Amino acid sequence: MVCFCFLVDQTRKVRQSKPAAGICSRCGGGASVADMKTATRFCYVPFYWKTWRAIICTFCGSILRSYR
Ligand SMILES: [Zn+2]
Repeated sequence: MVCFCFLVDQTRKVRQSKPAAGICSRCGGGASVADMKTATRFCYVPFYWKTWRAIICTFCGSILRSYR
């Protein structure tokens, strides 16, 4: 599958988010619960995607915790 690696990429989007308790361990910003959507693309054509929930930092965007 090595030859396919450069053709496959992933995009990550936040569909919706709402404030949550907690602060970011990296920058100290506020946390929020977000519904994430990850799309896997092959030659820029999405062929697989999934939604998942995570707690992310609203300031720097790092993922503090994820629920799969
Ligand atoms: Zn942060």
